Amino acid sequence: MTVPGAQTYSTTRTIEELSPQKELVLNRTLLPEQGCDWKSLKIRMQELKAADWNWRTGQLPLHSYFAGSDVTRVAEESFALFLHENALAPQAFPSVARMESDVVSMALEIFGGGESAAGSITSGGTESITLALKAARDRARKEREQSDFNIVISSSTHPAFDKAAQLLGLGCVRVPVGADFAGDAIALEGAIDDQTILIVASAPSLPYGIVDNVEELGRLAIRKQVWLHVDACIGGLMAPFARQLGYNVPKFDFAVPGVRSISADLHKFGYSAKGASLILYASHEDHSFQFSEFNDWPKGQYTTKTLAGSRSGGPIASAWAVMHHLGRAGYLDITRRVMRLRQQYLEGFSTLPDLTVIGRPQLSVIAVTSGADTIFSIAECMRERGWYMSLVADPPAIHQTINLVHEKIADRYLNDLVDSVTEMKAGSFNGSNSLAPTTVVTY
Ligand SMILES: *Cc1c(COP(=O)(O)O)cnc(C)c1O
Repeated sequence: MTVPGAQTYSTTRTIEELSPQKELVLNRTLLPEQGCDWKSLKIRMQELKAADWNWRTGQLPLHSYFAGSDVTRVAEESFALFLHENALAPQAFPSVARMESDVVSMALEIFGGGESAAGSITSGGTESITLALKAARDRARKEREQSDFNIVISSSTHPAFDKAAQLLGLGCVRVPVGADFAGDAIALEGAIDDQTILIVASAPSLPYGIVDNVEELGRLAIRKQVWLHVDACIGGLMAPFARQLGYNVPKFDFAVPGVRSISADLHKFGYSAKGASLILYASHEDHSFQFSEFNDWPKGQYTTKTLAGSRSGGPIASAWAVMHHLGRAGYLDITRRVMRLRQQYLEGFSTLPDLTVIGRPQLSVIAVTSGADTIFSIAECMRERGWYMSLVADPPAIHQTINLVHEKIADRYLNDLVDSVTEMKAGSFNGSNSLAPTTVVTY
C-alpha cells in the first residue's frame, strides 16, 4: 500500500506476485509475522489519514455533518462506551435495547407516529430502505396471490432503492421528475401497474435537495393501494425542526395519509456517529414484516429485526447520547443556524448571473447549474482552489450539503466561486476539465 508521505514507519509486509493472468503485478499486504505496538500503528494510521480530505476544515461539501465540537465529543465518547456491546443480544445487553427503543420512540414523536407506530435502528439509509422494501414485499406476498412485484420511483430517488430491489427480486421502474425537479405524481401513476407494491417520496432528494409533494403522492398511494415510503434519509432530522421554525417545508411525515414508512439517517443531520439510521412504520404490523425468524438449526430460535446479525452498540449509543445532549432546543438552534447559512449560499449564488440553483430546494442540500456547458470547468477551478466538489450529472451541476462545518468557510467558498466563474469567462482557465461526470463519480 502506498500512501503519500508514508515514510516514517512501515507496518506491512508485502509480496509482489504475478496475477493468474500473468499480466498484472499484484502487490498484496500480508499479515505481519510479528505484531507491532500500538504507538507505531497509530503513527502509521495517521499517515494514512493524511491522504484523506479533512472534513473538519469545511472543504468537503458532503459526507460528514458537524454540529459543534461538543456534539462530536458526545458522539465519539458514547460510541466508544458501547463499542463492544452487541445489539444482537438484548437479553445480554438490555442497555443497548433500551437505548434503541428510546431513540425510536423519540423519533416517532418527531415524525408524528401514532400509538401503533414502530421502528428500528439500522446501520444506515441503505439498510433502512432495504428493510422497508422487504416489509412491503413480504406483506404483499402474504396478502396477494401473486409472486412478481415492482416498485415505482422518480429519477431523483436514491440508488439504494435499485440496490434493494435487486436484492429482493423486485422490479424497479424509474420515471422522470417534473419541471420543478420534484417527484411527478402523473409520471409515477403512469408507471404503476398491477405488480406495483410501493412508491417513494424523497424528503428531500439527494441530487437536488427538493422535498417531493408528499401529500399528493400519499393521495396517489391510497388511490392505487400501494405503500408510500418517504425517504427522509438526508433531511429527516432537519425538516421537522425547519418546519417548526416556520420554514416552508412540505409536510412529509406520518401525519400525511398514505405514508407507511419513513427512513431517516441519524448519521447525517441527526449528528450521530456513522452507522445509525432509522426505519419507522406507521403500523407495527408493517414493521413486523421486516423481521427474520428461523429455528431449523441446532441452536434453536434465531430472530433478527434488521439485516445484521451481530451489531455494535456504538452507533445506537451515539444516537441516544447526541439526541439527549441536543434536545429539541439544540436541534432547533442548529437548524436555525444551518438555514441562515443556506441563505448566505443562496444569496452568494444569486450574485452570479451565470449560475442557477436547480428548482427550489427547501433545506440545505443545493445543486447549482450554469446556463452554458461550463459548470464542470468551474468545479475544476474550485478543485484547484482546494475544494473537494460534489457533482450532479443531470443536469450538470455542483452540489453542496450545507452544515455547520461550512459556517467558517462560507465567505471563502463564495469568493472562490466568483473568482472561478471570472476565470472561466475570461478564458484564462486551461485545466483539463477532468471533473466531467463521465470520468468522475458524482460523489
Ligand atoms: C444518504 C442517503 C441514502 C442512503 O443512506 P446511506 O446511509 O448512505 O446508506 C438514501 N437516500 C437519501 C436521500 C440519502 O441522502
